[in-house]
Amino acid sequence: MTILVIAEHENGAVAPATLNTVAAAAKIGGDIHVLVAGQGVGGVAEAAAKIAGVAKVLVADNAAYAHQLPENVAPLVAELGKGYSHVLAPATSNGKNILPRVAALLDVDQISEIIAVESADTFKRPIYAGNAIATVQSSAAVKVITVRATGFDAVAAEGGSAAVEAVAAAHDAGKSAFVGEELAKSDRPELTAAKIVVSGGRGMQNGDNFKHLYALADKLGAAVGASRAAVDAGFVPNDMQVGQTGKIVAPQLYIAVGISGAIQHLAGMKDSKVIVAINKDEEAPIFQVADYGLVADLFEAIPELEKLV
Ligand SMILES: Cc1cc2nc3c(=O)[nH]c(=O)nc-3n(C[C@H](O)[C@H](O)[C@H](O)COP(=O)(O)OP(=O)(O)OC[C@H]3O[C@@H](n4cnc5c(N)ncnc54)[C@H](O)[C@@H]3O)c2cc1C
Repeated sequence: MTILVIAEHENGAVAPATLNTVAAAAKIGGDIHVLVAGQGVGGVAEAAAKIAGVAKVLVADNAAYAHQLPENVAPLVAELGKGYSHVLAPATSNGKNILPRVAALLDVDQISEIIAVESADTFKRPIYAGNAIATVQSSAAVKVITVRATGFDAVAAEGGSAAVEAVAAAHDAGKSAFVGEELAKSDRPELTAAKIVVSGGRGMQNGDNFKHLYALADKLGAAVGASRAAVDAGFVPNDMQVGQTGKIVAPQLYIAVGISGAIQHLAGMKDSKVIVAINKDEEAPIFQVADYGLVADLFEAIPELEKLV
């Protein structure tokens, strides 16, 4: 049994979600190979070769894979994937863009966002916004799986010494071209990788009031998230949304401020190690999942908290 893990990488570095995906592969068992597809990714391949538990790194370094356009990467993964028992990718935007195409090309079902491995063919995955956990058994010849990073503790980024092998195949589907990108710039940690997340909801009342959360977050070294209501109201940008249709986070500490605790929000944060909720309504459902709850007006509680940090 040999497993192919598709590396997520950005700006010449292996993204943390890759380490969680390798951890899921290790739970399945067998040899683990990692595919690094991109252009000018020699450094990424070297870093991937050091990941604990990886036996081989395949590098597809070609202009066709620059910017990792899924139309080009998917045929590569499908071609290579035929020789593997499992193909795994993190359930990130990129992984979710590539793997369904791979599953279609291999004519198998995709198993999405696994959070646990029962055996080589049986996996657990959340359904109904995390309100139920399905156990899925697959008889597919190649099991194509996206991995929810928060479900698996990352393997060590250092300690391995895998062989690095170049892949000659170049698939340019000619269907899409990279035009440009606008990246959100922030000095704060990335939401899904942050150890502490402070999130604001509709209770913040407007975007300007988020300055209170930014000030607290900067003292704590935290990322700032938001509920969908806060995003839909235009308080903050869409990439800050936590939840079923936003980002899934599981930090050491999640502070929910002025958030009621709708199931769709909980779906994105309830695996956080410690949850703190600040809400003026003592009946708010967020208190049912919170380890620590403060019934208070956030406009009094947050400045006070900031002074104490
Ligand atoms: C298909 C679907 C997908 C969805 N996906 C998501 C998702 O990914 N993420 C998400 O978050 N939601 C999602 N939602 C929306 C979700 O159902 C809720 O509407 C949303 O989470 C509510 O956001 P909120 O808690 O900020 O607002 P509200 O529910 O309005 O809660 C605001 C809270 O702030 C408190 N408050 C108000 N003023 C103060 C104050 N001064 N001090 C302290 N507390 C105060 C109130 O007591 C209240 O509890 C989705 C919904 C659907 C149907």
